Amino acid sequence: MDKVKVLEKYLPPDAAPLIGRWIDYFKCEFKISRNRNSKFGDYRAPYGGKGHRISVNYDLNPYAFLVTTVHEFAHLHTWNEHKQKAKPHGTEWKSNFKRMMQPFFEKDVFPADIKQAITSYLNNPAASSCSDLTLYRSLRKYDAPKEDVHTVEKLRVNAVFKLKDGRVFRKGEKLRKRFKCVEVSSKRVYLFSPVAEVELIDG
Ligand SMILES: [Zn+2]
Repeated sequence: MDKVKVLEKYLPPDAAPLIGRWIDYFKCEFKISRNRNSKFGDYRAPYGGKGHRISVNYDLNPYAFLVTTVHEFAHLHTWNEHKQKAKPHGTEWKSNFKRMMQPFFEKDVFPADIKQAITSYLNNPAASSCSDLTLYRSLRKYDAPKEDVHTVEKLRVNAVFKLKDGRVFRKGEKLRKRFKCVEVSSKRVYLFSPVAEVELIDG
């Protein structure tokens, strides 16, 4: 299948052609990774006869996928320019990341809040890790809602729900900030945080 067509499934569509050109231009082996690890993406410098390798997690939303992809290409570009002399997230990487982000700003591929978060991330000299929290929190907002996951506050009163450990409860009234819920088997009352994630059984 055409590379850009595949990339369009993971990236904001307007961003896919340029990423496709970078893959060719930098002769990079680009992998959409099914490994669910804690990292969003990964760059490996040429080693042992292999060229540049980038992998990005498949389950990121399109904006997070793009930011991660540009992040890793900035590592590649920094390696080409400086080899081991530049620190992984040092000033050289940072200025490349900033520059390589520009075309996507010009194409207006990001919603305003993400654009703002990236801009302040790029202008904050202290923020340099792969997982800047403010940036990734704003990116996470665009994740698709998980199926079958409900929060206690969204359920109607008397709805029956289940926890991960299998215990079943019936939702009751709100008591100050939390919800009184009764465990069906023991009839005991528990207080639940409004944002506790539960599985809806009947409601
Ligand atoms: Zn990095």
